[in-house]
Amino acid sequence: MKRVLITGAAGFLGSHLCDRFIKEGYYVIGMDNLITGDLTNIEHLFPNSNFEFSHHDVSKFVYVPGELDYILHFASPASPIDYLKIPIQTLKVGSLGIHNLLGLARAKSARIIIASTSEVYGDPAVNPQPEEYWGNVNPVGPRGVYDEAKRFQEAMTMAYHTFHGLETRIVRIFNTYGPRMRLNDGRVLPAFVGQALRGEDLTVFGDGTQTRSFCYVDDLVEGIYRLLLSDYSSPVNIGNPDEITIGQFAEEIIKLTGTNQKVIYKPLPQDDPRQRRPDITKAREILKWEPKVNRAEGLKITYEYFKTLSKEQLEKIDHKDFTNYNRT
Ligand code: UDP
Repeated sequence: MKRVLITGAAGFLGSHLCDRFIKEGYYVIGMDNLITGDLTNIEHLFPNSNFEFSHHDVSKFVYVPGELDYILHFASPASPIDYLKIPIQTLKVGSLGIHNLLGLARAKSARIIIASTSEVYGDPAVNPQPEEYWGNVNPVGPRGVYDEAKRFQEAMTMAYHTFHGLETRIVRIFNTYGPRMRLNDGRVLPAFVGQALRGEDLTVFGDGTQTRSFCYVDDLVEGIYRLLLSDYSSPVNIGNPDEITIGQFAEEIIKLTGTNQKVIYKPLPQDDPRQRRPDITKAREILKWEPKVNRAEGLKITYEYFKTLSKEQLEKIDHKDFTNYNRT
C-alpha cells in the first residue's frame, strides 16, 4: 500500500485531497497545525484504518516514521484576511516549511508536489496567464507575505529538483471553491453566500469590474492527482478559465440564494489583482485535463453545503476581519 503525507490536511483543499487519496487506496497521514484548518473537515476519516492525523506545524522539523511515496504540501494560510492576520506564519510555512518537507522527501526518496498559486503572477499585466509569465508582484505590499512565500517555495523546490534530483511537481492553483470553505475566511464566495444567508447586503470591493475565474474543487483535485502522477516537473496552472467580473459574480449569488439584499460597494484592498484567468494549455496537453463542472452546477452544490451550517456557525463571522482587510 502506497503511503502519502498531506500537509494542511484539515483545510479546504487538504481535506478533499485526503478523501481522494483514501478513495484511491493509499495510506494517508494528514498533518495540520489547525491554525486555519478545522478538524470537522476530516473527522469522517478518523475511523478509517488507512488514515492517521498528526497535529504538527511544518515550520518546525517534520518527523514521519516509516516509508513515504508521496508528499503533498498544502499547508498555508490561503485567504487574504488570513495572511494579513498571520503574516509571519505565512512566510514561515512557505520557506522553513518547504525546506523541512523537501528534506523529508529526500530522506524518504518520496516525490513531492507543492501547492503554488496564481498569486505568483501578482496583479498580472497579461491575461490569461501562461506558466511562462513571470508576474507582477509587490514584495512589500500586504499580499507580499503570501505571494513571495509561494515564489520562494517554487524556487526552493526547483533547486532541490535540479541539484538533488528530487522528484518534484508544482501546481499553480487559481481561485477554487466548494464545500468546506470556511464561511469566515473572507474570500469572495463564502463572503457573499454568508451575507446572503444572514440577510445582509453583499459587499463588492472596488467597482466590481475586477475579474476572477472560479474552479470547482473536484476538478482541481483531479488536476492535482494527474500532475502528481505525471513526469512533468515545471509549474502547471490548474484552474477554470471561465472568467467573470466580481460584480457579475455578486449578481449570480443573489440569484442563486434568492436573497432580497442588494450590492453595496467598499474600497478595493491594496494590490487587489485587476484580472485573473488561467491559461490551461499545458494542463490540457500534458495531463489531458480540463475542468468539467460549470459554475452554475458547482455553486449549487456549494450553496447546499453552506445551508447545512448551523445558525451559530453562520453568525461566527468576525466583522473586524473585513474592516482590517479594507484598511490595508
Ligand atoms: N471581494 C469582494 N467582496 C468581498 C470579498 C472579496 O468584492 O466581500 C473581491 C476581492 O476584492 C477580489 C475578489 O473578490 O477582487 C476575489 O477575492 P478573494 O479574497 O476571494 O480572492 P483573491 O483572488 O483576491 O485572492
